[in-house]
Amino acid sequence: MRFDAIIIGAGAAGLFCARQAGRRGRKVLILEHNAQPGRKILISGGGRCNFTNLQTGPENFVSKNPHFCKSALSRFTPADFLELVRSHRIEYYEKKLGQLFCRESARQILEMLLTECARAKAELRTGCTVKNVSRRELFEVETNEGVFFAEKLVIATGGLSFPKIGATDFGYRIARQFGLKIVAPRPSLVPLVFSVEDFGRLAGIAVEALVSAGKHSFRENILFTHRGLSGPAILQISNYWQKDEEISIRLLPDRDLAALLEANRDSKQKLDNFLGRLLPQRLAETLTAKMFSNKPLNRMNSREIGETAERLRDWRVRFRETEGYHKAEVTLGGVDTDELSSRTMESKKVPGLYFIGEAVDVTGWLGGYNFQWAWSSAFAAGEAI
Ligand SMILES: Cc1cc2nc3c(=O)[nH]c(=O)nc-3n(C[C@H](O)[C@H](O)[C@H](O)COP(=O)(O)OP(=O)(O)OC[C@H]3O[C@@H](n4cnc5c(N)ncnc54)[C@H](O)[C@@H]3O)c2cc1C
Repeated sequence: MRFDAIIIGAGAAGLFCARQAGRRGRKVLILEHNAQPGRKILISGGGRCNFTNLQTGPENFVSKNPHFCKSALSRFTPADFLELVRSHRIEYYEKKLGQLFCRESARQILEMLLTECARAKAELRTGCTVKNVSRRELFEVETNEGVFFAEKLVIATGGLSFPKIGATDFGYRIARQFGLKIVAPRPSLVPLVFSVEDFGRLAGIAVEALVSAGKHSFRENILFTHRGLSGPAILQISNYWQKDEEISIRLLPDRDLAALLEANRDSKQKLDNFLGRLLPQRLAETLTAKMFSNKPLNRMNSREIGETAERLRDWRVRFRETEGYHKAEVTLGGVDTDELSSRTMESKKVPGLYFIGEAVDVTGWLGGYNFQWAWSSAFAAGEAI
């Protein structure tokens, strides 16, 4: 059967691209190997889908080429997606920092996309496995349901995160098959595992901190897990963390600890109890036991006070690895942006072949940016095919 365009992957980007191309009168087929489309949308944002971020800008993305995302983001903005959400009467709210969530359920976003695809007369085949892709005059996509032909082929199969709901390396394999470069993929927006520290007894404790790697800092909660750290500040910094690099954690980011300790120089209180007034007691005790000598404050000299304050202001932590793709919200890396047109997402080497969404080397921060990239890149391709 012949189509104008075949889109492989019925996730956020694939469905939105099909809608956009279908509205322009293109005959579109979407192929999805799962029995249901959009499974990641359903589990996103804790079931409420953080579908965009009002403050989206290129600085919220990580890519080998930080300029690549600009064109697509400027031509389909958070306001554009919000207009669509409103037109489907989906109630939403701003959680914080421009993050928009469905009030009821992520299912509403998926239903909206499916309704839009149906209106645009895009054909969706689920449970469809792609066996082979080749290109002669047209692209030929061989599947368990037969061979489909099209002038344009859009790869929207996402990254490697959450393999249990259908993530595959299909996009990277197709890119390699057609001679396109890949930026090595790795898990991101993911908890980190300590190299040596053992803070298992702190699992479950959350505190606000300023977390930094290189020039990037995020101030939000960190959460101790059985093996390492999680929480929004850690997930955010995982986008920038390089293996074997230390991360700096500033505990008590609003306090001048040196001044507080100085002001309590006469106190007979021991350091762990004093810190326990500022931090959860279990954390204060564990940090003191591991990092300091637990003296009464009136027995600490100025050097010890300075060192204690400095170590909590710039707690240097080494991590061995991430918790991996099973716990990562996204995949860093992907199809090298050098290979693609930033206006259309079309391959420069292989005319008619497009890559959109998470399969491309553009990864957003936590907070709705990854879906906005899916919508914007899908729009760019959907307008071009
Ligand atoms: C738990 C979790 C929560 C998240 N929450 C948010 C959030 O609230 N806000 C946000 O912005 N981002 C969130 N993300 C990230 C966001 O879901 C992704 O960045 C986004 O879904 C990427 O869209 P995509 O269409 O490129 O890929 P996907 O949505 O992953 O879609 C890819 C599709 O391709 C299909 N596919 C894969 N291989 C094949 C194949 N070989 N043949 C056919 N089909 C195939 C998959 O089954 C899937 O349906 C979350 C991610 C996770 C894992």
